[in-house]
Amino acid sequence: MPFQRAQRLDLLPPYLFIDIDRKKRAALAAGKDVIDFGVGDPDRPTPKFIIDRMATAIYDAKNHRYPFDTGVPEYREVAAAFFEKRFGVRLDPSGEIMALIGSKEGLGHLPLAVINPGDVGLIPTPGYPVYHAATLFAGGVPHEMPLTEERGFLPDLDAIPAAVLDKTALMFLNYPNNPTGAVAPLDFYERCVRLAKKHDFVICSDAPYTETYFDDADRPHSILEIPGAKDVAIEMHSLSKTFNMTGWRVAFAVGHRDILAALAKVKGNVDSGVFGAVQHAAITALQGVDRPEVAEIRRIYRERRDTLVPILNRRGFHVSPPRATFFVWARCPAGYTSMDCAGRLLEEAAIVAIPGVGFGKPGDAYVRFALTVEKDRIALADSRLANMKW
Ligand SMILES: *Cc1c(COP(=O)(O)O)cnc(C)c1O
Repeated sequence: MPFQRAQRLDLLPPYLFIDIDRKKRAALAAGKDVIDFGVGDPDRPTPKFIIDRMATAIYDAKNHRYPFDTGVPEYREVAAAFFEKRFGVRLDPSGEIMALIGSKEGLGHLPLAVINPGDVGLIPTPGYPVYHAATLFAGGVPHEMPLTEERGFLPDLDAIPAAVLDKTALMFLNYPNNPTGAVAPLDFYERCVRLAKKHDFVICSDAPYTETYFDDADRPHSILEIPGAKDVAIEMHSLSKTFNMTGWRVAFAVGHRDILAALAKVKGNVDSGVFGAVQHAAITALQGVDRPEVAEIRRIYRERRDTLVPILNRRGFHVSPPRATFFVWARCPAGYTSMDCAGRLLEEAAIVAIPGVGFGKPGDAYVRFALTVEKDRIALADSRLANMKW
């Protein structure tokens, strides 16, 4: 009998980057010098003070055994201290914080803990594809909340039909936002919390970019800063982007203890926690969040942003500089779909940018540039763009 994969995989949207992937491989095979703004993964290494801690933690035999399900107590305590200092929100380390194997893992499993078949999941679109996929895997019904430039890439809460809100079990939010770079003001979070209380749903705020900001006087907020948010919300924080640690797989969730307990129940049947040595490295990282190495990561992205944004505006794109994240969400030259625009960039300039439609239909007039490319390469991109006519 030929193998038949499970039907739930057929629910997933088509993989829209295939075309760009193929063109990129062809360009590389032809020996072209490809400038890749596609990768949403820090290009610089993890700071040495974190690697040094890992190097000692790995020799500690305690770390060789199964880790605690919800994280070693010290990791949860240090995460709580970070959270209180950074956002002014006090959390109980036993119950209001748990370790995740990267926030993607938490996002992927959360719907299994809070969505019943037929329940609606509200999904910001364009957005990180995991929200949609994880909702479908749990038997949920995704309802897109379009993010448009006119509204500062915040969803129009009043546009969600009452019938949808009645069936909603979970709302995903993501600020600072991938792919648009938008930041949410506190009053937006306040309105979301009010809506969630009125219609009895859970909010999951996906917040891996709160420390990837460009102005020290304008740091992004946590939804938990809203009084009463902890009654309906959890928030996912990650070390991946803040400390150039994407490969280490370590993050944490904070917020409503019953929601976290439900998530822990799912996880307890799927995984066995984060490698203890990695948690000890993560403790050192969080304790060092104010160190110059971490500020230097932000400085590099700021410098690249300030190099790339004027170039794109000069070369036919329309961009306003993001206040956070390492993404530049550029409106394509007039008349171009994101696929056509990204296709021409690759074919004529060997520049990879991600077509916005890959993050959902409302992204179709945009391409996403990740600031994970060195400054001299950004300057090279400029000279290639100068030769293109749109
Ligand atoms: C990078 C990213 C994540 C995943 O981060 P990990 O903690 O490495 O799993 C989650 N959400 C968004 C929006 C991201 O861009």
